Amino acid sequence: MFENFEIWWVTGAQLLYGGETVQIVDGHSQEMVAGLNASGNIPVKIVYKGTANSSKEVEAIMKAANNEDKCVGIITWMHTFSPAKMWIKGLQALQKPLLHFHTQYNAEIPWDTMDMDFMNLNQSAHGDREFGHICAHLRKPRKVVSGYWKDEKPQQRIAVWARVAAAWADARDMRILRFGDQMNNVAVTDGDKVEAEVRLGYHVDYYPVSSLMEYFKKVTDQEADALVEEYKQLYTIKIDESGEEVYWEKVKNAAKAEIAIRRVLKDEGAKAFTTNFDDLGGADINDPKFLGFDQIPGLASQRLMAEGYGFGAEGDWKTAALCRTVWVMSQGQGCSFLEDYTLNFNGENSSILQSHMLEVCPLIAAEKPRLEVHFLGIGIRKSQTARLVFDSKTGDGVTATVIDLGNRFRMIVNDVKCISPKPLPKLPVANALWIPQPNFEVGTEAWILAGGTHHSAMSYVITPEYWQDYAEIAGIEMVHINKDTNILDFKRELRLNEVYYMLNRAVQL
Ligand code: MN
Repeated sequence: MFENFEIWWVTGAQLLYGGETVQIVDGHSQEMVAGLNASGNIPVKIVYKGTANSSKEVEAIMKAANNEDKCVGIITWMHTFSPAKMWIKGLQALQKPLLHFHTQYNAEIPWDTMDMDFMNLNQSAHGDREFGHICAHLRKPRKVVSGYWKDEKPQQRIAVWARVAAAWADARDMRILRFGDQMNNVAVTDGDKVEAEVRLGYHVDYYPVSSLMEYFKKVTDQEADALVEEYKQLYTIKIDESGEEVYWEKVKNAAKAEIAIRRVLKDEGAKAFTTNFDDLGGADINDPKFLGFDQIPGLASQRLMAEGYGFGAEGDWKTAALCRTVWVMSQGQGCSFLEDYTLNFNGENSSILQSHMLEVCPLIAAEKPRLEVHFLGIGIRKSQTARLVFDSKTGDGVTATVIDLGNRFRMIVNDVKCISPKPLPKLPVANALWIPQPNFEVGTEAWILAGGTHHSAMSYVITPEYWQDYAEIAGIEMVHINKDTNILDFKRELRLNEVYYMLNRAVQL
């Protein structure tokens, strides 16, 4: 998935110590980059771009990085002392994510042999401080990772940033199609699409449901039948009260909807989409019997999500974007769009049932999903419709949302603990059941105080560090509700952020 991306590595040095020293620095840097690439821990290829020894050289590399689409970010490291005034113009020009790696070529001090030449060569202890200072002076958003380059721990932290940087590049090339508008009157899922493109990079467009219906009509029976055969291989077929005839009719219609939506997304070059249960196509003048979709295209949304298309229900384009981003960061594992549905009060284990009308991604399933057809009485077309039903994995996860506060975007992240639900024989939709951390009361109170949505992008795979890196790169506010959260401090954080982002915005304008 990341094979078209690369990260550039730039080593800071200077010519004060002579060309020979720079040659050694160069050799060490090549060895380190090769070592990181060979570690198997960094999912994006690191490309060594040489040493930067002057302001002109730094600026040239940073400008080249800006212009190279493949380059998703820059790693800097100061082998020797690198006077940081020479980094000012380059850092000002740099528009790609930045990671500053504080490491050293050799691990331990060679106590017996170390002389002044060795000290002058292995100077990241103060070279990296000099570089850090200029980044701080410039208020340059960046991630600082400290640790020995051969060790697993710093490599894993670089890997997190690499995945986020790749997802950031992906988001800046993301078009989101909205089939239908926002669910009427809903505030939290809406926002400023212009500002979203300015801050978060993605582009949101309306796509007429009538045009989607033209695709839907053109899907042949043969194509739909072939896809239904695929369903039979992948899922447990479970025919209930709808009966066999209705079951296969609705499954086939669902397959047609899936093929139609996928074709539109491909033809339009879109990576994410939203639907609305009040806008499902319908009778046209030439064919009054044509009814459009049976219901919301639930099965299609579930399967397209698993394929990597971001999804948001009821026109929720912000969550659709986030779902795509979390899918890219986790490389297509263990993530889904989810909605807070119903509370379950049960003392210490009080939890929230996560589900949706139909649209939960099978990537979080704990079992082989069952393909079922049931009546769904919400929205413009009340009908039987197909969906995948399953319980989700248990274990730790992270969920995230982005809201628009008028003057800025705020990302809200919550650690969650997924537990086993009880059987829900009368609720045939996929679900997850989680305890928001640190516990139900504090977790939900903090989320509500922060203004969080009822929709979120959840993952079992990524850690909060991913969202920290993402928010840092995007330059948006992020609050993290976790085991250490208490309401008093959390409220204080929200108030302080209010001041910080007001001033920050004023400076940017
Ligand atoms: Mn919803």
